[in-house]
Amino acid sequence: MFIYLRLNPNKKCILHLQRFLSTVTTRFDPCTGCEIPCTTHVTYPPEIVKEIDQSNMNNSVEKHRRHLCIGQPFSHTQWPKHIKNLQDGYINELERIITEKQSDIGYPVKLTSAVVESSNDLKQTADWYLFPDRIKINNVTMKQIEPIIDKLFIKDQSIIKIKHKTKTIEQQLEENNNLPVFSEQITCERLQGLWVLVCCHNQRDHRCGVIGPILVDEIEKYIQKTDRVDNVHCLKISHIGGHRFAGNVIVYPSGTWYGRVLPCHIPLLIDAHVASSSSNDLKEKLKPLLRGYLDTS
Ligand SMILES: [Zn+2]
Repeated sequence: MFIYLRLNPNKKCILHLQRFLSTVTTRFDPCTGCEIPCTTHVTYPPEIVKEIDQSNMNNSVEKHRRHLCIGQPFSHTQWPKHIKNLQDGYINELERIITEKQSDIGYPVKLTSAVVESSNDLKQTADWYLFPDRIKINNVTMKQIEPIIDKLFIKDQSIIKIKHKTKTIEQQLEENNNLPVFSEQITCERLQGLWVLVCCHNQRDHRCGVIGPILVDEIEKYIQKTDRVDNVHCLKISHIGGHRFAGNVIVYPSGTWYGRVLPCHIPLLIDAHVASSSSNDLKEKLKPLLRGYLDTS
């Protein structure tokens, strides 16, 4: 446009430019209230935007009833294409055990890595984050993996079944607040608040690799700004499926999956799911971004 003007500095062209600018600045996204293109929030690089699939993403979620995030102090840029190839062999062992016991477990468990700061220097340990239950098991060693899987998913009946059709996951979790009981060496706690998980797995797909960290920054800024550090938590996680719909975000405990999330959507996404501000109107606004839900069948 600028070059064209320099070559054709006539009145007609200036009018055309004014009309162009006025249409650009008066368009608003009905979902976020942001201008299109947005001048308030970070925008994604255009070459990445071009690669986002705009087709229907409803029901694009792989069936799973539990999501186990393995928190270790690796940066998301260190994750190889398949997390079982992470250098310490921890996830490889965990994946082997879950696969071996799959028929006893009886339902699919989604396994991802998560970036967490380490509270110790122990090698081959991890903090486990189980969703939607919001159970955290601390410093699990390689040797403890198998007994914990047995207890958590096979022998222990304390984690809830989440099968009630008329109640939300949140309501069912509130009614059954039991924690599994492990041996003395294993400590387990109930996490609180909203958990927002963002796929940042660059070596699996560059779309999530570029978009994910931008979204995490935006989420962290909004958490600080709205003084919700104790109520809203964010994790960078590895591949969850559907990179073509990046940015990919999962919200727990409701187990809601969103795709094509932009930084502009973050305030709405958090407000819609935080218990104090949550409303069906806000959730309704997010419907164009909905990919699906955690399987409760
Ligand atoms: Zn915006």
